[in-house]
Amino acid sequence: MTNPSDHSADVIVVGGGGSGLSAAVAAAEGGARVVLLERRPFVGGTTALSIGSLTAAGTSFQRRRGITDTADDLVEDMWKFDTPLLTGDAPKLRRLYATESATTLDWLMHHGVSFAGPFPEPPHRVPRMHNVIPNSRTYIVRLKEAARRLGVRTITSAEVAELMSEGDAVVGVTATVDGEPLHFLATRGVVLATGDFSGNAQMRQAHLPQGAVTALPINPDSLGIGHRLAANAGAELKHMDTLFGPQLRFPPSPKPGLLDRLPTWRWLCRIEGLVANSVPPALLRPVVKSLLVSHMSPTDSLFRRGAILVDSTGERFGEEQSPAEELSARTGGSGFLILDERIAAEFDIPPHHVSTAPGIAFAYFKDYRKGRPDLITAAKTPAELAGRLGLDGSALEGAIASSSLRPGFVAMGPVSSMLTVTEGSVAVDEQQRVLRPNGTAISGLFAVGGVGQGGMMLKGHGHHIGWAMTSGRLVGQALAGSRPDRAAAAR
Ligand SMILES: Cc1cc2nc3c(=O)[nH]c(=O)nc-3n(C[C@H](O)[C@H](O)[C@H](O)COP(=O)(O)OP(=O)(O)OC[C@H]3O[C@@H](n4cnc5c(N)ncnc54)[C@H](O)[C@@H]3O)c2cc1C
Repeated sequence: MTNPSDHSADVIVVGGGGSGLSAAVAAAEGGARVVLLERRPFVGGTTALSIGSLTAAGTSFQRRRGITDTADDLVEDMWKFDTPLLTGDAPKLRRLYATESATTLDWLMHHGVSFAGPFPEPPHRVPRMHNVIPNSRTYIVRLKEAARRLGVRTITSAEVAELMSEGDAVVGVTATVDGEPLHFLATRGVVLATGDFSGNAQMRQAHLPQGAVTALPINPDSLGIGHRLAANAGAELKHMDTLFGPQLRFPPSPKPGLLDRLPTWRWLCRIEGLVANSVPPALLRPVVKSLLVSHMSPTDSLFRRGAILVDSTGERFGEEQSPAEELSARTGGSGFLILDERIAAEFDIPPHHVSTAPGIAFAYFKDYRKGRPDLITAAKTPAELAGRLGLDGSALEGAIASSSLRPGFVAMGPVSSMLTVTEGSVAVDEQQRVLRPNGTAISGLFAVGGVGQGGMMLKGHGHHIGWAMTSGRLVGQALAGSRPDRAAAAR
């Protein structure tokens, strides 16, 4: 085994998604020696799979549009996404996020991340959603460049499996690198930035409601390892049974949309940012639609207008009251939406739409027919449709007979019941110190991003990335001592 002192640093960050990279960059900026350990062969995590929206209040983008906004208003509006659940969940952390979100946006821009916006997303009272340009890989590419420039030692294929302790304090981690366990000592702190636990079947079974247990995780590598490490060190876990979903989702397009294909070159992102922020929103809609038909969930109102959901054999198994939960309970968790030409025509024009990025654009059935022909199958009879989709003919016939659908059938899919992220997290205070059930801090241990939500539940777009980047930046700055107001408490 290698001598531990070979691998010492001021700050050890576990996980190289958005929150971990932010923590590493901010700590290194403040002069700390930083090691970042990532279990995958590459950094990115769920952050790199996301759409990349970041919700923030009081930003320069808002001011440029004459929008006055405050942290107080952002806190209140975040509650409105689910008032009984969210009001009072973690008020100090929510306030911290709201207060610091605009500075986080500036900090990311300082590191070369470009944004478009702000876009409206009701019930936010003013436009607050800032979208990264051209896609979420930009966060990772720019922060990785900054980490390299600032001397962060990033080690990939390095899974942290244990925390090292001295008495009650966490002093380092053990990571498996190239099959060998190595000790990494941290003089100032270990930051858990390991994301959520949606990819861990045992944790889903132990904590989540039945409808979510068998749903497919979008990121199967979200294994909740940081939750386990913190719990083993005595941390409290909060709201482990909460999540917003599952949701019906189509598979990624075999031909990625324009926004997904654009390179993340710094100069190109800057030009794209200038264009996106100066042309009228209507001109951007076609580009945004390519994103909608690739990434967004189909609306439940299709079912209210008569569409049905069948499983991968063609059988209808529920009444589409909670379609994603019903589908996840079926073996395989995937199936097809069945509609007819009448419903398809309704969803070709407002007020109906198949999917939306609220306040930005809507995607209609015709947009799917054009942009995702791989998802659309039409047939005159149930038998013909079953044949084309490889479903059981009599099962599909029975399913259609139980509905109000009329000949001229259309299938959309396959569609799966998927988990975006889980909300359950490690208890933390406003310095991101990990807390025991009695409220005392575990010395030397910090948590950020998904694992470090501290019981704050983040319904709505742009809040998870906003929190990941904000909590990472703040803990990095505190551990480097570059925020004197917070540094003393963090040690
Ligand atoms: C399809 C999709 C779209 C989304 N869109 C948005 C959006 O537009 N806006 C928004 O706000 N949120 C969005 N989200 C949610 C958001 O992306 C995540 O909540 C956020 O990026 C989490 O960041 P993180 O740094 O906490 O975790 P991650 O980005 O998942 O990073 C965790 C990293 O830790 C590594 N790791 C884990 N365990 C270990 C270990 N033991 N040792 C070493 N490394 C480890 C992982 O491999 C990973 O790289 C979306 C999510 C999905 C799935």
